[in-house]
Amino acid sequence: MIDPKILAIQFKSRFGDWPQIYRAPGRVNLIGDHTDYNDGFVLPAAIGFYCWVAISKRADSDFVIFSENLQDTALVRDVQESSGVVAKWSRYPRGVIRELQSSEYDLRGANIYVSSEVPMGAGLSSSAAIEVSTAYALLGLFGHKIEPLRVALLCQKAENHFVGARCGIMDQFTSCHGQTHNALFLDCRSLEYRKIRIPDGLRLVICNTMVQRQLSSSDSQYNTRREECEEGVRRLGKVLPSVRALRDVTLAQLEKNRELLSDAVYKRCRHVITENDRVGRMASALETNDKLAMKDLMHASHVSLRDDYEVSCAELDLMVSLAAQQDGVYGSRMTGAGFGGCTVNMVLGDFVAEFQGHVSAAYLAETGRRPEIYVCEAADGAAAVEFKK
Ligand code: ADP
Ligand code: MG
Repeated sequence: MIDPKILAIQFKSRFGDWPQIYRAPGRVNLIGDHTDYNDGFVLPAAIGFYCWVAISKRADSDFVIFSENLQDTALVRDVQESSGVVAKWSRYPRGVIRELQSSEYDLRGANIYVSSEVPMGAGLSSSAAIEVSTAYALLGLFGHKIEPLRVALLCQKAENHFVGARCGIMDQFTSCHGQTHNALFLDCRSLEYRKIRIPDGLRLVICNTMVQRQLSSSDSQYNTRREECEEGVRRLGKVLPSVRALRDVTLAQLEKNRELLSDAVYKRCRHVITENDRVGRMASALETNDKLAMKDLMHASHVSLRDDYEVSCAELDLMVSLAAQQDGVYGSRMTGAGFGGCTVNMVLGDFVAEFQGHVSAAYLAETGRRPEIYVCEAADGAAAVEFKK
């Protein structure tokens, strides 16, 4: 856990003055993957791993951004410069600066020091964490009102336009709105949400397969899935004119019109439609503390992502099957975009240590990779952090 006072001292020795400090969390999605960009439902929780940003004003209009994680500095002088010529990581904060400025926020120059606890590229949304923490820091530093929903939408836009990933709204929304002890049942069309208390005694245990999503190929797979969903909407929309997104299609309608779709598009649609239904049922299962229902729903979600959406991989499947052999586990599935990254597991507190030991040893023995296992609580969203000088 990063100590804000130490971060402030590191900032001062690099940039010469005391900073303000802000932080924004990563997130884990309990259920509802690949539904956000289909106007559907998701059930994520912010996790107690944060991207921290220390920031102070500069006399000029430059933005100097240092990533402690990557030990690299980016200079943003002309925010309009094309994204092709700059270090990939810097496109995230750079995109945020540009979106804020084009939304008429007055920003002058700043020194920005980024230090993140969120593992990068693991599916826990280090990207939203760096975007949202940078946005909060810039808005706070220059005295602008911070409106969480507006920030989430701006950061999503930054990632869409400047990084070129067509992500949905879930990650940035969760990083802004996270609530301790709660998951968020979010309608990605209306952006209305409801807090869903995670039953006491259950821990969110995240297992990192240590298979890095192959960025270029998984980005293109992600975009292909989105196109397949759009094709489903186009074809189904010819006979069902009220359909704007897969959110609007029932399973019965899909089955009835199956011949309009290729096998692949049919399966993608089936995943999205059944997954949306599972999200609602998972919210009820959490509210009534029905642990067996949670377990069944998370398993069904994994199978659907593996077989219908085809975004799992051998390591994720192995991690899920190892978790299923442990006691005290009430749900295990891949989480996030897929092709590597993490599984999320609901584990009774008393069984967590045993879970960690067994799953870690068995996964290492089978794959030769040592997994990282993070035991998390649902956490609060982005905020300014006070510290004593
Ligand atoms: P995820 O969001 O699941 O972690 P992404 O591929 O969406 O994976 O985003 C990861 C990328 O975000 C990293 O490769 C890097 O470019 C950028 N990033 C995240 N955190 C930091 C950080 N602390 N410093 C620099 N770049 C970061
Ligand atoms: Mg991301």
